[in-house]
Amino acid sequence: MLKEVGVGVALGVIISLIWLGFNIYPVLFLLGIFFLLFKVLDVRGGLKEFAPLKSSNNKIKTNISFEDIGGQNSAKKELLEALDFIKIPEKISLMGIRPLKGILLVGPPGTGKTLLAKAAASYTDSIFIAAAGSEFIEMYAGVGAQRVRQLFQQARNTAKKKNKMSAIIFIDEIEILGSKRGSHSSHLEYDQTLNQLLVEMDGLSLDDDIRILLIGATNRSDLLDNALLRPGRFDRIVQVDLPDMEGRLQILKLHTRNKPLARDVKLKKIAAETFGFSGAHLESLANEAAIAALREKCSRLEKSHFYEAIDKVIMGEKLDKRPEEEECRRIAIHEIGHALVSESLKPHSISTITIIPRGKAMGYIRQKPEKDSYIYTKEYLEGQIAILLGGAVSEEELLGSRSTGAANDFQQAIDLAKKIINSGMSSLGIVSTKDLPSGVLHQNLKEILNSQEEKVRGLIRDCKNIIEKAAGYLLEKERINGDYLRELLKMEKKNEFKQKVI
Ligand code: ATP
Repeated sequence: MLKEVGVGVALGVIISLIWLGFNIYPVLFLLGIFFLLFKVLDVRGGLKEFAPLKSSNNKIKTNISFEDIGGQNSAKKELLEALDFIKIPEKISLMGIRPLKGILLVGPPGTGKTLLAKAAASYTDSIFIAAAGSEFIEMYAGVGAQRVRQLFQQARNTAKKKNKMSAIIFIDEIEILGSKRGSHSSHLEYDQTLNQLLVEMDGLSLDDDIRILLIGATNRSDLLDNALLRPGRFDRIVQVDLPDMEGRLQILKLHTRNKPLARDVKLKKIAAETFGFSGAHLESLANEAAIAALREKCSRLEKSHFYEAIDKVIMGEKLDKRPEEEECRRIAIHEIGHALVSESLKPHSISTITIIPRGKAMGYIRQKPEKDSYIYTKEYLEGQIAILLGGAVSEEELLGSRSTGAANDFQQAIDLAKKIINSGMSSLGIVSTKDLPSGVLHQNLKEILNSQEEKVRGLIRDCKNIIEKAAGYLLEKERINGDYLRELLKMEKKNEFKQKVI
């Protein structure tokens, strides 16, 4: 706004001078020089301002507390311990403890690292200044180092201005400016930036009038320079992992507390079905469910809105394209093939089957995980391979040929077979796949995949009727519940029994 007014005033002055008959060329020349100087300073980072957290009376809610963060109990506990250095500095100094200068939050995207840093600032009543690693990287040597200096200076100045005793500097994607020295092609610039960060961290002390704590966040801690990780710099490394089921439930509760929920919505069930979701995914899930409810003009968010939102978060937005009738039938047979194998291996494992195209998938099944699993047995992996192959085998048995629709399934099945070999669970015993002759590896992969394919083929041949029936129903409805398939399987079993008795 101020910029526009300035430009307007300057133009007004120039026009008036021309009107009055003044020679304005020297003025224009001077203005040009000022503009160039301004640009050079801007590019070199001289005018860079990092984003401080807005005060709590601002419209944007930035006053985040640890209660606003679901799950992450161990990360919160570790962080709280480390924050005592800011909160009770006298006690820390009495005990002769050296100040903690940096905390590194490590974890996948969207798990709440920024939220934790913001909560740390509220908890310690500190100024919060945020920056991203990429903001320090420019093509000019020395700009990054200058920005690091500015960042620390800005934290001190802002804290003083706001009468605060401490400041928290949060650097997201810290691996960009803190990666191992000598690992970049333009390493002089990168090394200078990192060196400046080390210098600033070494300069922090308990006696400073403004106590500064640096919180870095990364999902690639393996890229960080050892000098950053040595004790005395980032001495606390806090793992911020994907939430477990209890964590997901808490996050869902937090993000639905301002939304009207229908009685059929069971957040515990949704938490169970969203294994692998990050906090950001769960926030998006709650938001998408509310959008779906609004679109359908419902006054409350219903169960169906949440399930629709899960599909959207996993697979992406629905696509407008609808394949030809024949292709749709193939997709339906393919998906029912997957679902049937899954149900026969583990009854009640299928949640939904759909042929509504979303993202890159023309159709998909969603399995219900009962509990979070972090390690897998050979039987489990073989079962997953069988489910992946179910689609292609079903197409082959019912339509006489396969299609390219199974290429992604095969790739995933190969990856799982490799996992079996890598974990020493194949007939080769404990081997290093890197040192294995490619022929031997290939032969073993084939053995694992073929044996599952044979089993699946036997099952699909026995169930052709069910697949036909279920695929017809899926074509009509586009999306069916796992219960329908289970009902069909139950009925077919009864008939089989009757035939046998007769
Ligand atoms: P990135 O590594 O991509 O920067 P991040 O780990 O810093 O991600 P945040 O920015 O803290 O993730 O989280 C993004 C959004 O996800 C938050 O604004 C919040 O809505 C939601 N979220 C993530 N984790 C949690 C959590 N544990 N509890 C509540 N909400 C969460």
